[in-house]
Amino acid sequence: QAKARGRNGYCFYAPEMSGEGVARLQLETYLRRSIEKNEIFLHYQPQVEIDTGRLIGVEALVRWNHPQLGLVPPARFIPLAEDTGFINQLGQWVLYEACRQMVRWQEAGLTVPKIAVNLSVRQFERGTIGDMVRGILRETGLAPQRLQLEVTESVIMNTGDALAFINDLHAIGVSLAIDDFGTGYSSLAYLKQMPVQTLKIDRSFIKDISTDVNDEAIAIAIIQLGKSMNLSVIAEGVETDQQAAFLRRHGCNHAQGYLYSRPVAPDELLLRWND
Ligand code: C2E
Ligand code: MG
Ligand code: MG
Ligand code: MG
Repeated sequence: QAKARGRNGYCFYAPEMSGEGVARLQLETYLRRSIEKNEIFLHYQPQVEIDTGRLIGVEALVRWNHPQLGLVPPARFIPLAEDTGFINQLGQWVLYEACRQMVRWQEAGLTVPKIAVNLSVRQFERGTIGDMVRGILRETGLAPQRLQLEVTESVIMNTGDALAFINDLHAIGVSLAIDDFGTGYSSLAYLKQMPVQTLKIDRSFIKDISTDVNDEAIAIAIIQLGKSMNLSVIAEGVETDQQAAFLRRHGCNHAQGYLYSRPVAPDELLLRWND
Protein backbone atom coordinates (compact mmCIF):
# COMPACT_ATOMS: atom_id res chain seq x y z
CA GLN A 1 0.00 0.00 0.00
CA ALA A 2 2.96 2.29 0.66
CA LYS A 3 3.69 2.24 -3.05
CA ALA A 4 0.24 3.62 -3.74
CA ARG A 5 0.90 6.64 -1.55
CA GLY A 6 1.37 9.76 -3.60
CA ARG A 7 3.76 12.66 -2.99
CA ASN A 8 1.33 14.43 -0.71
CA GLY A 9 0.60 11.39 1.38
CA TYR A 10 -2.73 10.74 -0.28
CA CYS A 11 -3.50 7.13 -0.68
CA PHE A 12 -4.32 6.07 -4.21
CA TYR A 13 -6.34 2.93 -4.13
CA ALA A 14 -5.47 0.00 -6.25
CA PRO A 15 -8.15 -0.58 -8.91
CA GLU A 16 -9.53 -3.65 -7.17
CA MET A 17 -10.34 -1.51 -4.13
CA SER A 18 -12.27 1.12 -6.11
CA GLY A 19 -16.00 1.42 -5.57
CA GLU A 20 -16.65 -1.19 -8.17
CA GLY A 21 -14.08 -3.52 -6.63
CA VAL A 22 -15.65 -3.27 -3.22
CA ALA A 23 -19.11 -3.91 -4.65
CA ARG A 24 -17.75 -6.92 -6.45
CA LEU A 25 -16.15 -8.28 -3.31
CA GLN A 26 -19.40 -7.78 -1.43
CA LEU A 27 -21.34 -9.51 -4.21
CA GLU A 28 -18.85 -12.37 -4.13
CA THR A 29 -19.34 -12.79 -0.38
CA TYR A 30 -23.12 -12.76 -0.73
CA LEU A 31 -22.98 -15.16 -3.66
CA ARG A 32 -20.93 -17.70 -1.76
CA ARG A 33 -23.71 -17.97 0.84
CA SER A 34 -26.61 -17.81 -1.64
CA ILE A 35 -27.30 -21.53 -1.94
CA GLU A 36 -27.32 -22.31 1.78
CA LYS A 37 -29.52 -19.25 2.38
CA ASN A 38 -32.06 -20.56 -0.15
CA GLU A 39 -31.75 -17.47 -2.34
CA ILE A 40 -31.17 -19.46 -5.53
CA PHE A 41 -34.01 -20.90 -7.57
CA LEU A 42 -34.85 -21.78 -11.15
CA HIS A 43 -37.22 -20.43 -13.72
CA TYR A 44 -38.13 -22.41 -16.79
CA GLN A 45 -38.66 -21.10 -20.30
CA PRO A 46 -40.81 -23.16 -22.67
CA GLN A 47 -39.44 -24.25 -26.03
CA VAL A 48 -42.15 -24.78 -28.61
CA GLU A 49 -42.88 -26.14 -32.05
CA ILE A 50 -43.81 -23.02 -34.01
CA ASP A 51 -46.43 -24.76 -36.20
CA THR A 52 -48.48 -26.22 -33.39
CA GLY A 53 -47.42 -24.33 -30.26
CA ARG A 54 -46.70 -27.73 -28.73
CA LEU A 55 -44.29 -27.78 -25.76
CA ILE A 56 -41.10 -29.57 -26.79
CA GLY A 57 -39.01 -28.73 -23.75
CA VAL A 58 -37.95 -26.11 -21.24
CA GLU A 59 -34.69 -24.35 -20.47
CA ALA A 60 -33.73 -24.02 -16.81
CA LEU A 61 -32.50 -20.50 -15.99
CA VAL A 62 -30.96 -19.74 -12.63
CA ARG A 63 -32.26 -16.86 -10.47
CA TRP A 64 -30.76 -15.20 -7.41
CA ASN A 65 -32.95 -13.21 -5.08
CA HIS A 66 -30.85 -11.48 -2.43
CA PRO A 67 -32.76 -9.90 0.50
CA GLN A 68 -31.00 -6.53 0.11
CA LEU A 69 -30.06 -6.48 -3.56
CA GLY A 70 -33.24 -8.02 -4.90
CA LEU A 71 -33.09 -10.06 -8.08
CA VAL A 72 -29.55 -10.04 -9.42
CA PRO A 73 -29.42 -10.82 -13.17
CA PRO A 74 -27.45 -13.93 -14.25
CA ALA A 75 -25.39 -11.71 -16.55
CA ARG A 76 -23.99 -10.15 -13.35
CA PHE A 77 -23.48 -13.15 -11.11
CA ILE A 78 -22.65 -15.98 -13.53
CA PRO A 79 -19.37 -14.36 -14.67
CA LEU A 80 -18.51 -13.76 -10.99
CA ALA A 81 -19.34 -17.35 -10.13
CA GLU A 82 -17.11 -18.44 -13.02
CA ASP A 83 -14.21 -16.26 -11.82
CA THR A 84 -14.38 -17.53 -8.26
CA GLY A 85 -15.03 -21.17 -9.05
CA PHE A 86 -18.39 -21.07 -7.23
CA ILE A 87 -19.95 -22.03 -10.57
CA ASN A 88 -19.08 -25.66 -9.85
CA GLN A 89 -21.25 -25.73 -6.74
CA LEU A 90 -23.93 -23.62 -8.40
CA GLY A 91 -23.93 -25.69 -11.56
CA GLN A 92 -24.35 -28.89 -9.61
CA TRP A 93 -27.23 -27.37 -7.62
CA VAL A 94 -28.91 -26.20 -10.83
CA LEU A 95 -28.61 -29.57 -12.56
CA TYR A 96 -29.96 -31.45 -9.55
CA GLU A 97 -32.86 -29.05 -9.07
CA ALA A 98 -33.75 -29.09 -12.79
CA CYS A 99 -33.85 -32.89 -12.91
CA ARG A 100 -35.88 -33.05 -9.68
CA GLN A 101 -38.37 -30.59 -11.14
CA MET A 102 -38.89 -32.79 -14.20
CA VAL A 103 -39.88 -35.61 -11.86
CA ARG A 104 -42.19 -33.31 -9.83
CA TRP A 105 -44.00 -32.15 -12.99
CA GLN A 106 -44.35 -35.74 -14.03
CA GLU A 107 -45.92 -36.61 -10.67
CA ALA A 108 -48.28 -33.64 -11.06
CA GLY A 109 -49.40 -34.97 -14.44
CA LEU A 110 -47.34 -32.84 -16.82
CA THR A 111 -44.80 -34.59 -19.02
CA VAL A 112 -42.21 -32.06 -20.12
CA PRO A 113 -40.41 -33.83 -22.97
CA LYS A 114 -36.97 -32.38 -22.27
CA ILE A 115 -35.09 -30.04 -19.96
CA ALA A 116 -32.10 -28.00 -21.12
CA VAL A 117 -29.48 -26.95 -18.56
CA ASN A 118 -26.63 -24.50 -19.19
CA LEU A 119 -23.05 -25.52 -18.42
CA SER A 120 -20.03 -23.23 -17.99
CA VAL A 121 -16.54 -23.90 -19.26
CA ARG A 122 -15.22 -24.19 -15.70
CA GLN A 123 -17.49 -27.13 -15.02
CA PHE A 124 -15.36 -29.10 -17.44
CA GLU A 125 -12.07 -28.30 -15.71
CA ARG A 126 -12.19 -30.95 -13.02
CA GLY A 127 -12.81 -33.72 -15.51
CA THR A 128 -15.72 -35.03 -13.45
CA ILE A 129 -18.64 -33.61 -15.39
CA GLY A 130 -19.70 -37.05 -16.63
CA ASP A 131 -19.70 -38.48 -13.10
CA MET A 132 -21.73 -35.53 -11.84
CA VAL A 133 -24.36 -35.96 -14.56
CA ARG A 134 -24.53 -39.73 -14.05
CA GLY A 135 -24.87 -39.29 -10.29
CA ILE A 136 -27.66 -36.73 -10.55
CA LEU A 137 -29.61 -38.78 -13.10
CA ARG A 138 -29.35 -41.81 -10.86
CA GLU A 139 -30.42 -39.88 -7.74
CA THR A 140 -33.38 -38.17 -9.38
CA GLY A 141 -34.43 -41.04 -11.61
CA LEU A 142 -34.70 -38.81 -14.68
CA ALA A 143 -34.12 -40.63 -17.97
CA PRO A 144 -30.97 -39.32 -19.70
CA GLN A 145 -32.93 -38.87 -22.95
CA ARG A 146 -34.90 -36.11 -21.26
CA LEU A 147 -31.85 -34.05 -20.36
CA GLN A 148 -30.11 -31.68 -22.75
CA LEU A 149 -26.93 -29.89 -21.80
CA GLU A 150 -26.20 -26.48 -23.34
CA VAL A 151 -22.66 -25.39 -23.96
CA THR A 152 -21.39 -22.39 -25.89
CA GLU A 153 -18.89 -22.52 -28.70
CA SER A 154 -16.24 -21.24 -26.30
CA VAL A 155 -16.72 -24.27 -24.06
CA ILE A 156 -15.98 -26.48 -27.02
CA MET A 157 -13.05 -24.45 -28.26
CA ASN A 158 -11.50 -23.59 -24.87
CA THR A 159 -11.80 -26.90 -23.09
CA GLY A 160 -8.78 -29.12 -23.47
CA ASP A 161 -10.03 -32.50 -24.56
CA ALA A 162 -13.56 -31.18 -25.09
CA LEU A 163 -14.24 -34.02 -27.49
CA ALA A 164 -13.54 -36.64 -24.80
CA PHE A 165 -15.91 -34.93 -22.35
CA ILE A 166 -18.61 -34.47 -24.95
CA ASN A 167 -18.27 -38.11 -25.96
CA ASP A 168 -18.55 -39.15 -22.32
CA LEU A 169 -21.75 -37.12 -21.90
CA HIS A 170 -23.10 -38.52 -25.15
CA ALA A 171 -22.44 -42.04 -23.90
CA ILE A 172 -24.65 -41.33 -20.87
CA GLY A 173 -27.50 -40.70 -23.31
CA VAL A 174 -28.02 -36.99 -22.71
CA SER A 175 -28.21 -34.66 -25.71
CA LEU A 176 -26.08 -31.60 -26.33
CA ALA A 177 -26.96 -28.18 -27.67
CA ILE A 178 -24.66 -25.40 -28.75
CA ASP A 179 -25.96 -22.22 -27.15
CA ASP A 180 -25.67 -18.71 -28.62
CA PHE A 181 -24.58 -20.30 -31.88
CA GLY A 182 -22.96 -17.88 -34.31
CA THR A 183 -21.55 -15.52 -31.68
CA GLY A 184 -18.38 -17.45 -30.90
CA TYR A 185 -15.51 -18.82 -32.87
CA SER A 186 -15.93 -22.46 -33.52
CA SER A 187 -14.38 -24.52 -36.19
CA LEU A 188 -16.98 -26.31 -38.25
CA ALA A 189 -14.49 -29.11 -38.87
CA TYR A 190 -14.16 -29.61 -35.13
CA LEU A 191 -17.89 -29.27 -34.58
CA LYS A 192 -18.51 -31.99 -37.09
CA GLN A 193 -16.75 -34.53 -34.88
CA MET A 194 -18.91 -33.67 -31.88
CA PRO A 195 -21.99 -35.71 -31.07
CA VAL A 196 -24.12 -32.57 -30.83
CA GLN A 197 -27.85 -32.67 -31.58
CA THR A 198 -29.00 -29.06 -31.50
CA LEU A 199 -27.93 -25.58 -32.57
CA LYS A 200 -29.49 -22.62 -30.81
CA ILE A 201 -29.48 -19.53 -33.01
CA ASP A 202 -28.42 -16.63 -30.80
CA ARG A 203 -31.02 -14.02 -29.98
CA SER A 204 -28.88 -11.24 -31.47
CA PHE A 205 -29.50 -12.61 -34.98
CA ILE A 206 -33.22 -13.05 -34.41
CA LYS A 207 -33.80 -9.56 -33.05
CA ASP A 208 -33.61 -7.65 -36.36
CA ILE A 209 -34.36 -10.56 -38.64
CA SER A 210 -36.94 -8.68 -40.70
CA THR A 211 -34.97 -5.42 -41.04
CA ASP A 212 -31.29 -6.36 -41.12
CA VAL A 213 -30.26 -8.31 -44.21
CA ASN A 214 -27.04 -9.50 -42.57
CA ASP A 215 -28.82 -10.99 -39.57
CA GLU A 216 -31.31 -12.53 -41.96
CA ALA A 217 -28.50 -14.10 -43.96
CA ILE A 218 -26.81 -15.45 -40.82
CA ALA A 219 -30.03 -16.97 -39.49
CA ILE A 220 -30.70 -18.67 -42.83
CA ALA A 221 -27.11 -19.93 -42.99
CA ILE A 222 -27.36 -21.48 -39.51
CA ILE A 223 -30.67 -23.16 -40.38
CA GLN A 224 -29.11 -24.58 -43.55
CA LEU A 225 -25.99 -25.69 -41.70
CA GLY A 226 -28.12 -27.49 -39.13
CA LYS A 227 -30.08 -29.22 -41.88
CA SER A 228 -26.99 -30.37 -43.71
CA MET A 229 -25.39 -31.64 -40.51
CA ASN A 230 -28.63 -33.32 -39.48
CA LEU A 231 -29.03 -31.21 -36.35
CA SER A 232 -32.15 -29.71 -34.94
CA VAL A 233 -32.16 -25.92 -34.84
CA ILE A 234 -33.96 -23.76 -32.31
CA ALA A 235 -34.22 -19.97 -32.42
CA GLU A 236 -33.69 -18.02 -29.20
CA GLY A 237 -35.34 -14.74 -28.26
CA VAL A 238 -38.33 -14.93 -30.58
CA GLU A 239 -40.57 -12.00 -29.66
CA THR A 240 -42.81 -11.35 -32.67
CA ASP A 241 -45.09 -13.23 -35.04
CA GLN A 242 -43.03 -11.89 -37.94
CA GLN A 243 -39.88 -13.48 -36.58
CA ALA A 244 -41.69 -16.78 -36.05
CA ALA A 245 -43.11 -16.68 -39.59
CA PHE A 246 -39.68 -15.93 -41.03
CA LEU A 247 -38.17 -18.88 -39.18
CA ARG A 248 -40.92 -21.24 -40.32
CA ARG A 249 -40.53 -20.08 -43.88
CA HIS A 250 -36.84 -20.91 -43.77
CA GLY A 251 -37.25 -24.32 -42.19
CA CYS A 252 -36.68 -23.66 -38.49
CA ASN A 253 -39.69 -24.95 -36.60
CA HIS A 254 -38.46 -24.73 -33.00
CA ALA A 255 -38.39 -21.53 -30.98
CA GLN A 256 -38.02 -20.07 -27.53
CA GLY A 257 -38.82 -16.50 -26.57
CA TYR A 258 -41.17 -13.98 -25.03
CA LEU A 259 -43.67 -14.52 -27.87
CA TYR A 260 -44.43 -17.89 -26.31
CA SER A 261 -43.49 -17.34 -22.70
CA ARG A 262 -41.01 -15.67 -20.41
CA PRO A 263 -39.11 -17.92 -18.04
CA VAL A 264 -41.64 -18.89 -15.34
CA ALA A 265 -41.82 -20.58 -11.95
CA PRO A 266 -42.55 -24.34 -11.93
CA ASP A 267 -46.18 -23.92 -10.80
CA GLU A 268 -46.92 -21.42 -13.51
CA LEU A 269 -45.57 -23.78 -16.13
CA LEU A 270 -47.84 -26.48 -14.74
CA LEU A 271 -50.87 -24.18 -14.87
CA ARG A 272 -50.25 -22.89 -18.36
CA TRP A 273 -49.15 -26.06 -20.15
CA ASN A 274 -51.10 -28.80 -18.42
CA ASP A 275 -54.06 -29.44 -20.68
P1 C2E B 1 -28.95 -18.23 -22.42
O1 C2E B 1 -28.63 -19.60 -21.96
O2 C2E B 1 -28.70 -17.90 -23.83
O3 C2E B 1 -30.47 -18.01 -22.00
C1 C2E B 1 -31.37 -17.22 -22.72
C2 C2E B 1 -31.54 -15.87 -22.10
O4 C2E B 1 -32.38 -15.08 -22.93
C3 C2E B 1 -32.23 -15.89 -20.74
O5 C2E B 1 -31.72 -14.80 -19.98
C4 C2E B 1 -33.70 -15.62 -21.12
O6 C2E B 1 -34.46 -15.09 -20.05
C5 C2E B 1 -33.50 -14.62 -22.22
N1 C2E B 1 -34.62 -14.59 -23.16
C6 C2E B 1 -35.41 -15.62 -23.52
N2 C2E B 1 -36.32 -15.25 -24.44
C7 C2E B 1 -36.11 -13.93 -24.66
C8 C2E B 1 -36.75 -12.97 -25.53
O7 C2E B 1 -37.69 -13.25 -26.27
N3 C2E B 1 -36.23 -11.71 -25.51
C9 C2E B 1 -35.20 -11.36 -24.71
N4 C2E B 1 -34.77 -10.10 -24.75
N5 C2E B 1 -34.57 -12.24 -23.89
C10 C2E B 1 -35.02 -13.51 -23.87
P2 C2E B 1 -31.27 -14.96 -18.48
O8 C2E B 1 -32.19 -15.87 -17.75
O9 C2E B 1 -31.05 -13.58 -17.96
O10 C2E B 1 -29.87 -15.71 -18.60
C11 C2E B 1 -28.79 -15.09 -19.23
C12 C2E B 1 -27.66 -16.05 -19.44
O11 C2E B 1 -27.14 -16.48 -18.18
C13 C2E B 1 -28.06 -17.35 -20.15
O12 C2E B 1 -28.13 -17.15 -21.53
C14 C2E B 1 -26.92 -18.25 -19.74
O13 C2E B 1 -25.79 -18.01 -20.54
C15 C2E B 1 -26.63 -17.78 -18.33
N6 C2E B 1 -27.29 -18.70 -17.40
C16 C2E B 1 -28.58 -18.71 -16.95
N7 C2E B 1 -28.78 -19.75 -16.11
C17 C2E B 1 -27.60 -20.43 -16.05
C18 C2E B 1 -27.17 -21.61 -15.36
O14 C2E B 1 -27.90 -22.28 -14.64
N8 C2E B 1 -25.85 -21.98 -15.54
C19 C2E B 1 -25.02 -21.28 -16.34
N9 C2E B 1 -23.74 -21.72 -16.47
N10 C2E B 1 -25.39 -20.19 -17.01
C20 C2E B 1 -26.67 -19.76 -16.87
MG1 MG C 1 -28.94 -21.41 -22.71
MG1 MG D 1 -28.47 -18.57 -25.60
MG1 MG E 1 -26.79 -16.19 -23.91
